Amino acid sequence: KEIVLTGITTSGTPHLGNYVGAIRPAIEASRQDNTDAYFFMADYHALIKCQDPARVQQSRQEIAATWLACGLDTDKATFYRQSDIPEIAELNWLLTCVTSKGLMNRAHAYKGAVDANLADSQDPDFGITMGLFCYPVLMAADILAFNANKVPVGRDQIQHIEMARDIAGRFNHLFGQHFTLPEAVVGEEGSILKGLDGRKMSKSYNNTIPLFDTEKKLQKGINKIKTNLLEPGEAKDPNDSTVFDIYKAFATPEQTAEMRQKFADGIAWGQAKKELFELINGQLAEPREKYLELMANPAQVEEILQAGAEKARARVRGFISDLRNAVGLVNFK
Ligand code: ATP
Repeated sequence: KEIVLTGITTSGTPHLGNYVGAIRPAIEASRQDNTDAYFFMADYHALIKCQDPARVQQSRQEIAATWLACGLDTDKATFYRQSDIPEIAELNWLLTCVTSKGLMNRAHAYKGAVDANLADSQDPDFGITMGLFCYPVLMAADILAFNANKVPVGRDQIQHIEMARDIAGRFNHLFGQHFTLPEAVVGEEGSILKGLDGRKMSKSYNNTIPLFDTEKKLQKGINKIKTNLLEPGEAKDPNDSTVFDIYKAFATPEQTAEMRQKFADGIAWGQAKKELFELINGQLAEPREKYLELMANPAQVEEILQAGAEKARARVRGFISDLRNAVGLVNFK
């Protein structure tokens, strides 16, 4: 069986990129009979970059409601909050103790933060927590706790999956064959959506278009996407346009081909954005209703998450106990 695992960091409001790159393909995959799916709210991860408790909490609620509104079947998939599974924190420590610092030195997220500090003529380690530095170990724990063999990720996350493989391999070498080495499943080329400013759409960059805002706000968001100064009637390059990229992520191949032609024919940016809005809104109107219903009913969501945590813990408890035993600790009783 394929064991698929996806998490979304609870540090902000879920956006079109999370939907296209993670939620939509994950839900599709979870409908396959040969798949065992694990989807979680990555709230331990959120603490790395977000020290605002209200935001973590609000985001967790929004992300949970989003998965459910998008049609996640919680009978098929295991759906949980990361922080409800203390076994993950336990495994995080077991893995930390076999992970070399040198491996972590090479992680993109850490190196990116160091580079940004150097560019600002700051101390290279300024503001860098051990959470950020060791974040690939926590991600490895998320994956290895369930021995997930397929991890759908964006291109920027491939390195972290490779690190999870390294860490798993090291543990296996030292303590016996416990872990399956996970594989990254990378979405098709161009599956990373760009945000309003042309960088990757990301909660951390504040450049997102929220998935389930009101219709009006969705329209406003789309109108804010950065475009070049070409006038109506001037041909536009679909290969260099966030409007086109987002359109493509929601359209059928036929619709995409038509829009490509319209770009060649010089569609006005205002018109292209209007068509983009109509396309997305048509697909989101129904789940948006469901989302609002769930947001108004936190007790219902909580019940689902409690059941999910039970299911996830039942799955990992024995395994983590075996791992404790393997390294010389006493089994969980
Ligand atoms: P953060 O800034 O907190 O890291 P994020 O918005 O970049 O948040 P994550 O929570 O790290 O998103 O990622 C959750 C999932 O969404 C991952 O599978 C990731 O690949 C996917 N994802 C995030 N941003 C995009 C994007 N712009 N396009 C496609 N997929 C994305």
